[in-house]
Formats: sequence, C-alpha cells, structure tokens
Amino acid sequence: MEILVYVELNKNEIPDYSYDLISYAKEISNGNRVLGVLLQPDGFFLDEDKKKNLRKYGLDKLYLINTNRVYFDKRVEPFLIVDLIKKIDVDIFILTSTSNGREIAPVVASCLNTGLTADCTKLEIEDSKLISTRPTFGGKLMASIMYKKRPEMATVRKNSFKKKEFNFDNNLEIEFLEFNLGDCRLNSLEIIDYHEGLKEDFINYQNAKVVLAGGMGLKNKENFEKLKLLAKKTGAIVGATRKAVDRGLIERKYQIGQTGSSTSPLLYVGFGISGAIHHIVGMENSKKIIAINTDKNAPVFKSADIGLVEDAIFVLDKMLDSNISFNI
Ligand SMILES: Cc1cc2nc3c(=O)[nH]c(=O)nc-3n(C[C@H](O)[C@H](O)[C@H](O)COP(=O)(O)OP(=O)(O)OC[C@H]3O[C@@H](n4cnc5c(N)ncnc54)[C@H](O)[C@@H]3O)c2cc1C
Repeated sequence: MEILVYVELNKNEIPDYSYDLISYAKEISNGNRVLGVLLQPDGFFLDEDKKKNLRKYGLDKLYLINTNRVYFDKRVEPFLIVDLIKKIDVDIFILTSTSNGREIAPVVASCLNTGLTADCTKLEIEDSKLISTRPTFGGKLMASIMYKKRPEMATVRKNSFKKKEFNFDNNLEIEFLEFNLGDCRLNSLEIIDYHEGLKEDFINYQNAKVVLAGGMGLKNKENFEKLKLLAKKTGAIVGATRKAVDRGLIERKYQIGQTGSSTSPLLYVGFGISGAIHHIVGMENSKKIIAINTDKNAPVFKSADIGLVEDAIFVLDKMLDSNISFNI
C-alpha cells in the first residue's frame, strides 16, 4: 500500500501545511511508503534544504512534474496528477483543503472515477483501507467514510495536524516526469491576466502561539475592540465565532471553525463561546484551551483544559487592567 500526497507550493515555497500533511500520511501509513507529487512551476527550485525537509518530515519519494507555467492553472494541474496516478497506481491520494487542493481533488476523482471525502479532520488506515472522518449534518455528527473504489481520496483540513520529524538514514528518492497534455484540456478557459497576492487581508493563524477568541458572550463591537487591544498588548492573535462575525461584531477574517480558519496555538482562550462543533473543529488541536462562559453546561467546557464559569466581559476587563503577559 502506498499513499500519494499533493505537495502544494505557496509563492514557490513549500508551506508548513504541506509538511504537516506529509508527516500525517507517514504517521498513519503503518510503515508503508509515502510518495509526494510536486507540480513544478517555472521559477521553482528544489534545493537541498527542501529535499532534506521533505525527507525529514516523512516523504519517501517525490515525483517532480514540470508544469511549464508560472502560476497554478486548474486546466493543467489536475490532469498532470491524473496521468501520474494512472502511471504509478497508488492506493490513496490526499491533499490539503486549500483553494488549490479543493480545485484539484474533484477533477482528479472524477477523471479516475473514484470517491473523494472533502475537508476531513481525521484519517486512519485499517487493513490497508482509508477511513476518512469529517463533520456532517451541520456539524452535529462526525462521519467516518470508507471507499468502494481506488484510489481512495481525501482533502484534509489545514492545521488539523502538525509536522513531525522522522529519523531516516537514506535520502529522498526523486523522479522527474514529463507528461504531454495535448491541447484538448487547455481550451475551456483562457487566462488573460494574472496578479499574485491581491487577497492579502487574511489572518495567518499558522504560527500563532496564543489565540484570544470571542463569541456572542462578548455582546458588542466595543468588547471585541477590547479583545483586539488585549491581543495587541500580549502579542496574541484574535479569533471569533461565525455568529459574532455574522452579527457584524468583528471582521470575517477572524472567523475560526469549519467555514473559517483553523488554528492550533499553544494557548487558546475562548471568551463567551458556546462550543458548537463548527467552531471546535477549528481550534480543538490547541495545546491548552481555556473557556470562559457564564453557563456551566456550555458544550465548550467539554473541549477545555480549564473552564471558568464567569462573565467573559468582566474577565476581559480584568486582564486588560492587569498588564497580563503570556510567557510562551
Ligand atoms: C454549516 C455551518 C458552518 C459553520 N461554521 C462555523 C465556523 O466556521 N465557526 C464558528 O464559530 N461557527 C460556525 N457555525 C456556527 C455555529 O454552529 C455556532 O452557531 C456558532 O459557533 C456560535 O457562536 P457563539 O458561541 O459565539 O454564539 P452562541 O452559540 O450564541 O453562544 C454564546 C455563548 O456565550 C455565553 N455567554 C453569554 N453571555 C456571556 C457572558 N457575559 N460571559 C460569558 N459567556 C457568556 C452563552 O452562555 C453561550 O454559551 C457554522 C454553522 C453551520 C450550520
């Protein structure tokens, strides 16, 4: 059994979330090989550091395929992967749930006439079969899905797992491949211009150490401004629930959860958050979780390491007054 991982690039670098997925694949592989596919745009160079990191974080072999393009092109990339999978016949193919991963995965699954589970929060392998778990029925249940066809495919939520170092005494195996796409796949869409980095207005939770997240318990915009001030003073990053965002209490870029960002900081503090599964899936991998809620039965306490049954606004004011710092 072999697992193929889509090694995604971000601005010609291999981002942490690609290493996270490789490590996770290795961890669940039961000692089997983890292969990677990297679609190489013009201007990308696989230097020694990248090779070492790919190996260190769990990759056994990398397929490097030239795209002859400077940018991600959804008319091309999925089909290069289809050709690769037809050639190497892997059992499992996984990608990160980024916008590129979400573009590629369904096209590949459809071309290979196989199944795909999107946005998984957990993967397991039993008897060489993939079991993919993801929230369903609006997050009320977690569904574990098995497959009838090969390759078994899943996209996995960013930040659901953290990269991990493995000790191997041999180097990364690399195979360079070229595929001739033919013209037919390029006709459906014409790209007339390309701009990189226009959508910069997002919060990068990837390396956050402390996240201070607010929910409806903070009641109004003014208290969310106080939360931002506390974050600024302490070097933390602000997060929020979708309900708070939908009510206009804070900007959408701060939303954490199923339809927002995922985060796994050393410390997550939830102020007035009920703990709906849609929110929990975005922060449950935090190392320590503190929840502050006036309702002692709030579901969030089930996920918390420390629970405080208290008025979150009162606690927020006290923290602001106390010159608190997080020594992590
Ligand atoms: C398909 C789908 C996707 C979704 N995606 C997301 C997502 O990505 N992220 C997300 O967050 N949600 C998401 N949701 C919404 C989610 O289901 C919840 O509605 C939302 O997380 C609840 O936000 P909340 O905890 O702020 O509000 P509420 O559920 O209203 O909870 C407010 C909490 O504050 C407490 N409280 C009240 N006053 C105080 C006080 N003074 N001090 C302390 N505590 C107080 C209350 O006891 C309560 O527990 C999604 C829903 C659906 C259906």
